[in-house]
Amino acid sequence: MYHCSKAVVHLQTAFTNFFSGRAKYPNFKKKRNGGSAEFTKAAFRWQDGQVYLAKCSQPLSIRWSRQLPPGPVPTTITVRLEPSGRWSVSLRINDTRDLKLKQILKQVGVDLGIASLLTTSDGEKVANPKNLQKLHKKLRLAQKSLDRKPDKKSNNYYKARLKVAKIHAQIKDSRLDYTHKLTYVANPTAPLRLIRENQTIVVEDLAVKNMVKKRCDPATTLVARERAPRDHKLARAISDANWGELVRQLEYKAEWYGRELIKIDRYFPSSKRCSNCGHAVEKLPLNIREWDCPECGSHHDRDINASINILRMGTRVADRRKGTPTKKAAGGAVSVCGATVRPEESKSRQAGAMKQKAPTSDARESRAVSRIAASGGCQSSAEWRK
Ligand SMILES: [Zn+2]
Repeated sequence: MYHCSKAVVHLQTAFTNFFSGRAKYPNFKKKRNGGSAEFTKAAFRWQDGQVYLAKCSQPLSIRWSRQLPPGPVPTTITVRLEPSGRWSVSLRINDTRDLKLKQILKQVGVDLGIASLLTTSDGEKVANPKNLQKLHKKLRLAQKSLDRKPDKKSNNYYKARLKVAKIHAQIKDSRLDYTHKLTYVANPTAPLRLIRENQTIVVEDLAVKNMVKKRCDPATTLVARERAPRDHKLARAISDANWGELVRQLEYKAEWYGRELIKIDRYFPSSKRCSNCGHAVEKLPLNIREWDCPECGSHHDRDINASINILRMGTRVADRRKGTPTKKAAGGAVSVCGATVRPEESKSRQAGAMKQKAPTSDARESRAVSRIAASGGCQSSAEWRK
């Protein structure tokens, strides 16, 4: 009864999304494919840290994923049955604690990749766990066995479906766990410390959805198409790397812990530009991991060079935001010269841009910066060194 009223609200949202073209026509919930019920304040009781749902005399037996902060009482509880047969309960609380960390000066640029999941401008590389690859064979076998069962109502079909769903859940869990550990861990000795050790983190604003799209898809932007996978294996690797979730977590955790996340324009050619002299090479295929600059002769690791460029571009954005001159970025590094930062506008790019979400304020800002740099006309590599 109580969560019925909530269901009406959800249906309203579903139809609003449908009529504004954001979503497909709402579907009925499937009996076996899980589903969720939301309980508002009147529909549950919170007592001694335990949840009593409406009409239940026994509390829910919950295995907590983490401790709730003392004090706040949940306002909404969502009970969900996942396709893998696992029940989960999520509680919405109003957390008023101040989690902000002490301000520090360190800045870092992060390049996201597949060979190594991320490379920082300090030269640190984090391995890609490749969670999907580890279970891919198992998943394929289970999926094949499911495809062989024609009767969708049979018990054997149900068992095979559950098996597939469980493998998917396992992949999802390990992926999410790894991403959480990468962004922030409460334990100060944990090896990965992006949020803890850096005040400013600069990442590329990647359109992961476009990168996973097929090359021939007309909606794919010109540059995304250039970067887009030639085959489904690369698309799978991009999906498995979980970049989108990583950036999303960095975004909200930066806000929680009082850090700054800067997203720079995805069209900024971070890999092709020499971080020493600013010379941009014409082409740099994905299989080239190390290269020598034809101008100044310095030897570059592809990812580290890219992350240094990303950091410089980010400090430029930050400086513009603060209204300070951008000539010298922090650490004595010279800012990026953006003479050829944007590719030529083309029809397909514009078409693709329309499909994408509206740019975030950061992306907009970095675009403005690149335009200013372009009109400023600092083109020669000699000026770069100044
Ligand atoms: Zn160079």
